Amino acid sequence: MPVALFWHRRDLRRHDNAGLAAALQSGLPVLPLFIYDTDILDHLPRPHDARLTFIHDQVEGLARETAAAGGTFLAYYGRPAEVFAQLLAQLDVAAVFTNEDYEPCATRRDEAVAQLCQARGVAFHALKDQVIFAKTEVLTKSGTAHRAFGPYRDAWLAALRPEHLRPYPSAELFRAPHLGQWPAAPARPTLAQMGFKRCEQYVPASELPAEQLVRGYHTTRDQLGLAVDSSTRRSVHLRFGTLSVRELMQQAQTLNPKLLAELIWRDYFMMLFWRYPQLPEESFEPRLRGVAFRNDETEFRCWCEGRTGYPLIDAGMRELNQTGYLPNRARIAAASFLVKHLLIDWRWGERYFAERLLDYDLALNVGNWQWVAGTGVVAAPWFRVFSPDSQLKQFDPTGEYVRRWLPELGTAAYPPPMVEHKFARERALAAFKAAYHALPA
Ligand SMILES: Cc1cc2nc3c(=O)[nH]c(=O)nc-3n(C[C@H](O)[C@H](O)[C@H](O)COP(=O)(O)OP(=O)(O)OC[C@H]3O[C@@H](n4cnc5c(N)ncnc54)[C@H](O)[C@@H]3O)c2cc1C
Repeated sequence: MPVALFWHRRDLRRHDNAGLAAALQSGLPVLPLFIYDTDILDHLPRPHDARLTFIHDQVEGLARETAAAGGTFLAYYGRPAEVFAQLLAQLDVAAVFTNEDYEPCATRRDEAVAQLCQARGVAFHALKDQVIFAKTEVLTKSGTAHRAFGPYRDAWLAALRPEHLRPYPSAELFRAPHLGQWPAAPARPTLAQMGFKRCEQYVPASELPAEQLVRGYHTTRDQLGLAVDSSTRRSVHLRFGTLSVRELMQQAQTLNPKLLAELIWRDYFMMLFWRYPQLPEESFEPRLRGVAFRNDETEFRCWCEGRTGYPLIDAGMRELNQTGYLPNRARIAAASFLVKHLLIDWRWGERYFAERLLDYDLALNVGNWQWVAGTGVVAAPWFRVFSPDSQLKQFDPTGEYVRRWLPELGTAAYPPPMVEHKFARERALAAFKAAYHALPA
């Protein structure tokens, strides 16, 4: 009997899922599928990776939900094109549904699978799900990508209609006869079979954040010392799609425009990435591709380990290393310090964040690193150099945050600043200025 496959990737949920709803409405029995992609997993540090443990838990949860609804959930460990070649040979697949993924590697992966399907006469449908507006949906009047965020946000808001935030009925349709069964389906891979061990890192639940938090978000989001969450802490769930961005957008739209604006940044970076897939490799502004970074490896290790002698930077890096999370304000301070104070290539910092952040997202990470570095994304000025001490006074005035992560602060065990702020600022400005003026505009 012909079936449809629904391929989960960054959308590990049953509810409000555009591609899953389309599959369940196709009239074909649907077999949901997840592939532990060896092209990605082979780059993760074995045996512990909190993100893989999180994904595995979600996939197993989806498999239980599918079984309870009378269907079969498939999970494989391998290269997607090879897994699909095998599946198309074993099953009578009439269509494959999935949700769009805008990262360069993902785009190439999907093209390969779409071509394979096409060659076998199988329809391949990719739907927009993880953003509200994708690709070329919000452009300038002359049809180019917005270089500044403000005009992009205004155009985004002007284009928004109620239907853009309306949930898809995937959870309602997730039952017989819309689900398929395959009694001979192979066993789903365990973490151990993939060479990993369980990693117990705390990740907040995927529900919508409390109304009170969202209402006060604009006043709390930059306060590092708060004992309670100052921002939504939903980035991991948006990254893996355990929370639908439409749900959070709707809540933000009703309760807090500042939160809505932050979520629009997410759409913005994903759009930029789709348009400029070379962004992870090079600075957006050609005149800043030649900055003479110092790239001192010992200084880089001090930064990674939180031993710079600047409490705000060190507290942030210790929090990141211990928890896999870092508040936005601390991300900005740490990134700026690495690029400007130490004159280390933003790509080194981007890679380190990629290893550590539970919410790591290529588009958001690279976009934000280039924004902080001032290398041309969002037209942020390259000559802005944050002072770590002024930032500390502003965002952690009582010192609560730095004391939480630096128990040795105030003792002889805490190191002196590794570089003097004024000297570092002038050195950075000279390096950026030299590169900027070396090429014509
Ligand atoms: C150098 C640097 C690297 C970053 N790397 C990542 C990353 O890899 N993954 C990631 O999800 N975010 C990244 N961010 C953006 C931001 O710091 C995190 O999204 C945020 O701190 C997550 O906490 P939250 O969920 O409480 O966010 P909230 O402040 O509650 O915001 C809600 C959601 O809006 C989105 N958002 C918020 N701020 C931004 C932003 N500046 N750019 C784009 N989207 C945003 C996120 O999806 C976030 O979960 C980075 C920021 C910087 C400065």
